[in-house]
Amino acid sequence: MFSKNLSLSVLSICDSRDLSYETASELCDLSPRYFGSIARGQTAPSINTLEKLCIGFDKSPNDLLGFETSKEELAFRIASQVVHFRIYPFINGSTTTFPVCPHCAGSIEREYQLFCSNCGQRLSWDFYQYATPLKKK
Ligand SMILES: [Zn+2]
Repeated sequence: MFSKNLSLSVLSICDSRDLSYETASELCDLSPRYFGSIARGQTAPSINTLEKLCIGFDKSPNDLLGFETSKEELAFRIASQVVHFRIYPFINGSTTTFPVCPHCAGSIEREYQLFCSNCGQRLSWDFYQYATPLKKK
């Protein structure tokens, strides 16, 4: 399962960054032939090779092995209630509020947007009228 996930990750990285196997293998300090066999899922790379791939692509082992990815992706698709907002003071003494993402705790630019522009979490605004201010840390 790991080598299949790794193969899919490597392929999607090459695809999204428009990298040839040759360029990608250079980035990862691997031979193009060996890189190709990883991309096709035909080999079980060593931990050292995994490290080279992580460094070359600037990814974590979890990113490349797809560890928990499906679970996280599912969680992002299920709407999370927005129940907090932050209060920002203006210099003139008045204030403005921004809703707070329940997943990443980042401020959400516009109320009632469907997804957090920061982390991609799907948002639900059903209870926003009862939202409470988030205490500053
Ligand atoms: Zn977020």
